[in-house]
Amino acid sequence: MSDLQQNLARAEGYLARFARDGVLNHIGGVSGPADSGETFETRSPADGRLLAKVARGGASDIDKAARAAKAAFRSWAALSGADRRKILHRIADGIVARADEIAFTECMDTGQALRFMSKAALRGAENFRFYADKAPEARDGQSIQAPGQVNITTRHPIGPVGVITPWNTPFMLSTWKIAPALAAGCTVVHKPAEFSPLTARLLVEIAEEAGLPKGVWNLVNGFGEDAGKALTMHPDIKAIAFVGESRTGSMIMRQGSDTLKRVHFELGGKNPVVVFADADLERAADAAVFMIYSLNGERCTSSSRLLVEESIHDAFVARVAEKAARIKVGHPLDPQTVIGPLIHEVHEKKVLSYFDIAREDGATLAVGGQKLGGEFAGGHYVAPTLFTGANQSMRIAQEEIFGPVLTAIPFRTEEEALAIANDVEYGLTGYIWTNDVTRAFRFSEGLEAGMIWVNSENVRHLPTPFGGVKNSGIGRDGGDWSFDFYMETKNIAFATVAHAIPKLGG
Ligand code: NAD
Repeated sequence: MSDLQQNLARAEGYLARFARDGVLNHIGGVSGPADSGETFETRSPADGRLLAKVARGGASDIDKAARAAKAAFRSWAALSGADRRKILHRIADGIVARADEIAFTECMDTGQALRFMSKAALRGAENFRFYADKAPEARDGQSIQAPGQVNITTRHPIGPVGVITPWNTPFMLSTWKIAPALAAGCTVVHKPAEFSPLTARLLVEIAEEAGLPKGVWNLVNGFGEDAGKALTMHPDIKAIAFVGESRTGSMIMRQGSDTLKRVHFELGGKNPVVVFADADLERAADAAVFMIYSLNGERCTSSSRLLVEESIHDAFVARVAEKAARIKVGHPLDPQTVIGPLIHEVHEKKVLSYFDIAREDGATLAVGGQKLGGEFAGGHYVAPTLFTGANQSMRIAQEEIFGPVLTAIPFRTEEEALAIANDVEYGLTGYIWTNDVTRAFRFSEGLEAGMIWVNSENVRHLPTPFGGVKNSGIGRDGGDWSFDFYMETKNIAFATVAHAIPKLGG
């Protein structure tokens, strides 16, 4: 049996329960179907086969989940940080113990390649460990002195929160949002993306098996326009942590306005990788290729624009093209696969539409640019693609495609590179390649992005802030920043002297 056949057999074992029982909601520690009894299907992007029927939750399911989260809030928030720490570490242990099951299930549900998903499962565990260790300090504040007064700030969990996640790497992203919420003392209602709901179900099971009290974490599946919308409008939900498209973020802001929701948005990107002639060009090429073609290009931090100094442009782009053309497209469970199928036919259509748009706008197709047939028939497989000869006015230089599609644009001067880099509505990440340290600093000062890597691909360090500017997001995760979102700061002022109090009325 080939590696792929063996992996398919293992996946079959992991998926059998979903095929048999479907994907149920989990509210107040009890699993069940949607109130309406309705379901929707989740299908594998690799071959279109039905993986499971999923509970299609709506407003009444969200209401029950929000009430359960509210009922569980007081006692969860009152637990000591040390106790929350223990439970969160046990959740991490549970993730590690089931890392294979998570990775295989995620691959089949999302189309992401196993080589990346096995790491994503373990990264989920790391997220829990990191915030487990921060739980005991979540309440910490500052002492601020004034004449005759000492102020003490304390932090308190904001209450039950809603977490809404996208389909691209759902397991990792769910842990990234939920771990700090739990560490802060919040309770959670999670609404995962309808295209890839399976691993969210595994995660809530692991959490309760690890001893998380019932009602602290509730899962409601469903569509954005009903379950998602109801969650953002529910009066008992104090904040919404959302990862997804920028235009969905705008909708959520509107939906949450009546109940004055606090929002945290991690949205889209059109991130530049800027390569100057003095850079280590082989490393820069490897990093650029990695950042656009890993995770099927369905990655918010992908470097989808390649800005290259004119003097090295043609040679550098040729090097990138050579690498892109050699990338292995294949079944997500084939250990050799780099690019798997795109998540869904709707998304595939969107990505393919940009191939026509690029041609109409006058860009040159250097590599790829088509849907793959033959052995790939039945799946949403798209070739790794590189467009050259592009300029800023083209839609492939402005819009988030969210697939394995790179747009190369030449620049003459540093000023021009910066102007091009900033001339998009997004500002999530930027990648700068140069050996001139002064220029690297100057350029990163001017670059409109929440996160910048110099001479590196995206290498995430959990204590650092994660988030975007412009249409790429509001707020920061990571380190202590997550607690700023999930907690309220209270100031208590103590008089330290018998100061003069104005006497009104005698
Ligand atoms: P999406 O916005 O379509 O959906 C995300 C989630 O929002 C889903 O669970 C969906 O059901 C829900 N939703 C949709 N409409 C809603 C509404 N009206 N009210 C409440 N919830 C609603 O995004 P997607 O297509 O699933 O994911 C891809 C997008 O996510 C890309 O734009 C990508 O850049 C972005 N993303 C950003 C980050 C980041 O950290 N900045 C990370 C991953 C993905």
